[in-house]
Amino acid sequence: MTETEAPTAPSAWQLARVLDIRDETARAKTFRLALTSPRPHLAGQHYVVRLTAPDGYRAQRSYSVASAPDDSGAIELTVERLEDGEVSGFLCDEVVVGDELEVRGPIGGWFVWPGDGPALLVGGGSGVVPLMAMLRLARRLGRTSLIRLVVSARSPEDLYYADELAGPETTIVYTRRTPPSWPHPPRRMVLEDLDCSLGGQASAYVCGSAGFADAATSLVEQCGITAERIRVERFGPTS
Ligand SMILES: Cc1cc2nc3c(=O)[nH]c(=O)nc-3n(C[C@H](O)[C@H](O)[C@H](O)COP(=O)(O)OP(=O)(O)OC[C@H]3O[C@@H](n4cnc5c(N)ncnc54)[C@H](O)[C@@H]3O)c2cc1C
Repeated sequence: MTETEAPTAPSAWQLARVLDIRDETARAKTFRLALTSPRPHLAGQHYVVRLTAPDGYRAQRSYSVASAPDDSGAIELTVERLEDGEVSGFLCDEVVVGDELEVRGPIGGWFVWPGDGPALLVGGGSGVVPLMAMLRLARRLGRTSLIRLVVSARSPEDLYYADELAGPETTIVYTRRTPPSWPHPPRRMVLEDLDCSLGGQASAYVCGSAGFADAATSLVEQCGITAERIRVERFGPTS
């Protein structure tokens, strides 16, 4: 099996040991997890994390893999801590290095970029996570000419992967506050932020909140990419 092929059928639950935790922003952390039974993943796939309380109560949530496919036996998940968030709060506030988490994956056969065709990636907030796996894969394969990544963040402090994102294939849009001397005032993403040069044969991957996804999808369509080539993942409320 090559690094861009992966099984898409749901897999069994397994334990994953937390190898490392790093602050991505004040509200988001990246967890590096060593899998007991590693399975290759595709860029864009996610895992489900399941928590079990001492009284047997369980809660589970989906988290995209931020790391590119590799053979390390580990994956990275980035979790934004939501106000009153049951699972994200526990992960960001309670979990420490050495803990074991129950996970299941990789999951998803639609929102995946196998690394072989032109793709416009558009993410807002934590929606950048699966797109980061795609960017990392493109860079590792030396195929950055195939992708354009546009990221919307509230402010420089809210930008995930800040040390790694910058490059000719990426554009950052700040909605509330920009760094000094930024070329635009804070504003929502507009058509000129999207690099439409990939052409109508490109696929598009849009990820973020429901509101962001709808607005970004409309911009992508204005780029000439038709609806059947646009893949959307919404990180909305669970109920
Ligand atoms: C395929 C998929 C991949 C995902 N990948 C990621 C990821 O990589 N990183 C990440 O941080 N999250 C990701 N999510 C969202 C994640 O699954 C949870 O929904 C999120 O962590 C909230 O769970 P919680 O238990 O903390 O909050 P809950 O206890 O479920 O909800 C707390 C409050 O927040 C609201 N809420 C719930 N979810 C969201 C949300 N996503 N945005 C805004 N408000 C919300 C609820 O309505 C409620 O008011 C993904 C979701 C999907 C479906």
